[in-house]
Amino acid sequence: MTTVTMPGSTEPTHYHAIGRSNLSELPEWQKLDAQLRHEIDIVARVLPFRTNRYVVENLIDWSRVPDDPIFQLVFPQRGMLSEADFDDVRTLVESADDSEALARAVDRIRRRLNPHPGGQLTHNTATLAGRPLPGVQHKYRETVVFFPAQGQTCHAYCTYCFRWAQFVGMQGMRIETRSTSDLVAYLRAHPEVTDVLITGGDPMIMATRTLRRYIEPLLAPELAHIQNIRIGTKSVAYWPHRFVSDADADDCLRLFEEVAAANRHLAIMGHYTHPVELKPALAREAIRRIRDTGAQIRMQAPLIRHVNDAPELWSELWRSGVRLGLIPYYMFIERDTGPRDYFSVPLVRAHEIFRRAAANVSGLARAAQGPTMSVLPGKIRILGVVARSELLDRQLPAVLHNGGGAMPSADPREQILVCDFLQARDARLNQTVFFAAFDPGATWLDQMRPAFGGERFAFEQAGDRDRTAPLHALTECLLD
Ligand SMILES: *Cc1c(COP(=O)(O)O)cnc(C)c1O
Ligand code: SF4
Repeated sequence: MTTVTMPGSTEPTHYHAIGRSNLSELPEWQKLDAQLRHEIDIVARVLPFRTNRYVVENLIDWSRVPDDPIFQLVFPQRGMLSEADFDDVRTLVESADDSEALARAVDRIRRRLNPHPGGQLTHNTATLAGRPLPGVQHKYRETVVFFPAQGQTCHAYCTYCFRWAQFVGMQGMRIETRSTSDLVAYLRAHPEVTDVLITGGDPMIMATRTLRRYIEPLLAPELAHIQNIRIGTKSVAYWPHRFVSDADADDCLRLFEEVAAANRHLAIMGHYTHPVELKPALAREAIRRIRDTGAQIRMQAPLIRHVNDAPELWSELWRSGVRLGLIPYYMFIERDTGPRDYFSVPLVRAHEIFRRAAANVSGLARAAQGPTMSVLPGKIRILGVVARSELLDRQLPAVLHNGGGAMPSADPREQILVCDFLQARDARLNQTVFFAAFDPGATWLDQMRPAFGGERFAFEQAGDRDRTAPLHALTECLLD
């Protein structure tokens, strides 16, 4: 393969993965403190880790390591394992030889971080004439989510990602499909579907000729009801070469043009985590080239402690994105999976970050919705905090409108969290509001309680809570 370099960079433009085994080749790595390197090496035995030269050279400020946000995003960190787990693995690594005991310990820790019993792979799975179609999910009326088999990995891994179970190839932990013909047959039988969301891992890891096999059939006249094709991808941030200089980059852009020519909208759901990802000339060139095909790029990401948990970062991300022609879409709440204790941001704080970020930008950048949590009952958004007394005294719209400012009361029992469903599995709940008890530490639905008494919300079915963690761990893409 020829090696081309971008002006001002010595970085090769062919993809080269960096993982635990070849990390020592990196000059940036060699300069790090030995203790830090050792700790990362221990944690990397448990949590899969992969990055590449583009990320290392363009997105990480090595003078700020270990606090640099992108370093936190792609390199495993000591705090992701409990002290006890860390010590277990370290002892086994340092005592060498007993590789079987090490493998057993690693497997045990991984399963605890995100156990994945059968069952959940069938939840929301589409069926055709009674036959389940693995890799095709239909949870909300208009949108079908599709996981192509060859798109189940990424150019680099995000350390918080629940997909690590798939990447490390744990038994029975893959969700995927090989067949477009099943998808097409399903869509033909479902004229109510307007959107197909192709997700992964990262579908843009696929060669263009493979991607084409999935997309072209969707453009057929008998699927005219499919108006929008979405592709969820991190490649725009982790590997913009995919659209600029990879051998089949131009071919990929031709494919995008074909979608527009077939009178459909192609929406690239770009996973942008931090404003630094929009800075490199190559990332901007990728955006320009994608937009030239008639496709639109939207930006979405989860809110992650240590990475992007500050309102200024989100304002800057949305502002610079909008300037480049991107459309802000979702701010997600980090899922309850993987090393979540390290990354999670309490719901109340997530809302405060969103509010301050949105308050600080023009309407175009305020197109973002969030913070939102994808759970079994639907997509739940945290709308605001209000005092109980205000809720009783005033009209709800006024409360929501004014609810931002200073906390209405210092006493948590006097406060209420206002939430709504952006999307609900039960369509009657779409766009409806509900109230939760104020809990400054709660990070996920399973820790929320109704504001006016009771253990669970009316929209939760008996048993939902027990299954919350495993159920949605792998059945929905983080960035859907
Ligand atoms: C979020 C999501 C979608 C898409 O919802 P939009 O609000 O249309 O972006 C589809 N399927 C699942 C399972 C989702 O979580
Ligand atoms: S969050 Fe997305 S880009 Fe990151 S590792 Fe997971 S699937 Fe890949």
